[in-house]
Amino acid sequence: MKLFKEILKQIKKYDNIVIARHIGADPDALGSQFALKELIEVNFKNKKVYAVGSIASRFKFMGNTDKIDDLDKAQSLLIVVDTPDIKRIEDIDNPNDFASVIKIDHHPFIEKFSVDSIEYIEEASSASQLVFKFALDCKLKLTKKIAENIYIGIIGDTDRFLHDYTTNETFELVTKLLNMTNIEFTKLYEPLYNRPLSEIKFQGYIYQNLTLTDNNVAYIKITDDIIKKFDVDSAAAGNMINELKFVSGILIWVFFSEDPKMKIIKANIRSHGPIINEVAMKYGGGGHIYASGARLTSWIDAENLINDLNEVAKEYNSK
Ligand code: AMP
Repeated sequence: MKLFKEILKQIKKYDNIVIARHIGADPDALGSQFALKELIEVNFKNKKVYAVGSIASRFKFMGNTDKIDDLDKAQSLLIVVDTPDIKRIEDIDNPNDFASVIKIDHHPFIEKFSVDSIEYIEEASSASQLVFKFALDCKLKLTKKIAENIYIGIIGDTDRFLHDYTTNETFELVTKLLNMTNIEFTKLYEPLYNRPLSEIKFQGYIYQNLTLTDNNVAYIKITDDIIKKFDVDSAAAGNMINELKFVSGILIWVFFSEDPKMKIIKANIRSHGPIINEVAMKYGGGGHIYASGARLTSWIDAENLINDLNEVAKEYNSK
């Protein structure tokens, strides 16, 4: 593909390459980031590649991130994976500080990162799937660790091939990945899915305390007191959001989690039919049509968001 050749040309041109992704990194953001970093290191010796952003301790088995305080950005290439807009890129204030910018993303388009940025956007299952397509097209050498991170990224974003955007191509690529590298993929589920008992009890609390609106929007407001009471992380509820996908009677569901440190209320929003990312965008968030998120600053916004989602569900129900 012509775009892949252009990306490869840029990678060859720069000695210092920074790979960034969205804040609140999930397995796909990390999988695509770490896989791309290692792909470049393994296939192009003497390049310094930096993966930036913070990483939750439970994902540290995937890799480590780097600092770029002393880097001359004006001489470096920036590659951003799994992120559609500048405000969501972690650790990078302005992509224009870099000599060149590349985006590799599977979200609906929001904005270009710079006037001449190379943007490879395809609404595929995951950014990790796109990184693998790039590696295949350019005939890059793979290692087991690269393959594992790509696999975890695809598994993470498709929730083990459950979600839309899981296509024949996803399966074909995964089969190719497994045949080429022989990774023991079932061994990866243990570090990816292992959870403390406190989270399971917290999950029980969420299920017991969901509220359902008249138009099938289920929601729960999780305050900091509850998070402390169950001794879980403020991101814990968000990690469980996909579990309600196949519950009859629920069309849209939202978990609100208070994070006093960040002074935000994180909303994880999912849908089983109605398009929700436009509502998320109204509250400064965004995402995919059936999987979105937003960072709210008040419980009043949370209430308004519920009302807006209820309207979207009402319209959907009336069709
Ligand atoms: P999450 O609920 O955090 O798993 O996010 C679901 C989807 O919504 C992902 O594609 C995210 O990139 C996107 N998303 C989550 N939070 C935000 C936000 N604050 N702004 C824009 N997009 C978001």
